[in-house]
Formats: sequence, structure tokens, C-alpha cells
Amino acid sequence: MPELPEVETVVRQLLHCGRMLNNPITGVKIFRPQRWINYPADKIAIRLMGHVFKNITRRAKFIILSLDDEAELIIHLRMTGKLMCQATPIDDDPYIREIIYFQDGSQLLFKDTRTLGRLYFKEPGEKLPVLDRLGVEPLSFQFTREKLQALLYHCNLEMKSFLMDQSKIAGIGNIYASEILFLCQIHPQRNTRSITAEELNRLHEIIPEILNRSIKFKGTTIADFRNAENQSGEFQKYLQVYGNHGESCPICQTEIQRIVQKQRSTFFCPNCQK
Ligand SMILES: [Zn+2]
Repeated sequence: MPELPEVETVVRQLLHCGRMLNNPITGVKIFRPQRWINYPADKIAIRLMGHVFKNITRRAKFIILSLDDEAELIIHLRMTGKLMCQATPIDDDPYIREIIYFQDGSQLLFKDTRTLGRLYFKEPGEKLPVLDRLGVEPLSFQFTREKLQALLYHCNLEMKSFLMDQSKIAGIGNIYASEILFLCQIHPQRNTRSITAEELNRLHEIIPEILNRSIKFKGTTIADFRNAENQSGEFQKYLQVYGNHGESCPICQTEIQRIVQKQRSTFFCPNCQK
């Protein structure tokens, strides 16, 4: 699943392409109405028509397209979702589930082989529980050492589960959770309350560092992720433990182990991570 760095990459590319903002919307085509969670899919075309997007931002793993009237179209790519803006029309791809048409002929395409992606529409001032439940953004100034300390000590979770809990820190998923814990030399089954002051400092430093480094390499592609320019990310080349069970730890040469926590694989070095 795309995590924070992959979603951030898509947002930056959509902004960079120069066709998404201030370009009047002339139509919407929907192939899978059931993907629209909180708004009737048959009414969305009329609602968007004539409006323009003023900005594109990210909250956790959600892409937020803000309209000129302050309403927001919110997209969650989930497993196989891909968002791309094309200058020339394409609509014969069987995996395109939604198309937004713009006045200059370009199109925003939402491709999704497994159709697990979700779309939401938020009227100005309206609350969207799925966003309100999210925790602190790890790349924001609100992610302070004190905030992280309070989050750790006010719950009673295994460290891997803590990092993946979107209501605590938003945007980290399975890949980066394993990588963060390896770089911090913390065992994934450690309890949040057992984290020492020194480990807290490392976590506070490493979490934004690894996410920013991955953004620099346009994210990680394991099986499926393609960014808004339909390219794979490159950060998979720099992963230290994720997916590497049976191989040697890059630090101590001990065999990297795989365990299952909450039905998800965790990769770690039993020697380096205490
Ligand atoms: Zn090791």
C-alpha cells in the first residue's frame, strides 16, 4: 500500500504537472459508483462542473484536492490506486475507475486494478470522521519530541503496531515501520512504555529522516506502486530489512527474521534490534 512518501510523491507530481490547478472541470466519468463513500456518485459530476482545484495537499495517506469554493475531493489510493494527470485523452484502459475532464482537454485518471481505493467529498465546513481520527503528521512541526513521548507513554502497544496506528502518527505503514525500527535498533515487539530517553531521541530523528529520504527517491515500489508520472519509486533499493528475510543484516550479518504482527509481516535483525 502506498504510504506517506508515495502519496506525497503523487501530490507533488500532480502539482508539478501544471494542468491540475485553475483548470475548469468539464465532466466526471464514474465506472464504480460504490467507491464514493459519503457522497452520491451520480451527483458528483454536477457538483464539480465549472469549478477548479485551487490546491492539492496530503493528510496521512489521503490526497486532498481543494476546490475554489473550499469543498474538498479526498482520495485514498489504498492497495493499487494510481492517480495521474494526462494531457492527452486516454479512456480505453480497463482499470480506469474515474476520470475528471478539464477544459484544456487534459484528464485526471484514477486507475485501480483491485478497486479498493476510496473517494470522499467534503462540503465547506463539513466534518469527515476518517480525517478527524488521524494523528500527528510526522513531517510537521507538531511532531515534537514531547508529542512523541506523550504518544508512546499513553498507550500500551508493541512498537510496530504503534508506528502503524494512524490515530497516533499518521502515514506510516508496514514498510517504513520495519525500516524505522531497524534504524533505531528497537525490537518490533517492544512495548511503547519501555522506550528509553535515548531511543525516543532516535525515533524522533529517524522517523522524519527516512520518510523525507524516501520522498527524495519518489517512494518505494514493492509490487505495484506507480507515481503520478506512471513510474516506479526508487527507494526499494535502499530498504535495509523490509522483504529481506533470510538475507544478512547489513550491519552485523545475522540473518534477518520475519514475524507476523497483527496479520502483517515484520522484518528485523534479532541481533541489532533489542
Ligand atoms: Zn544486525
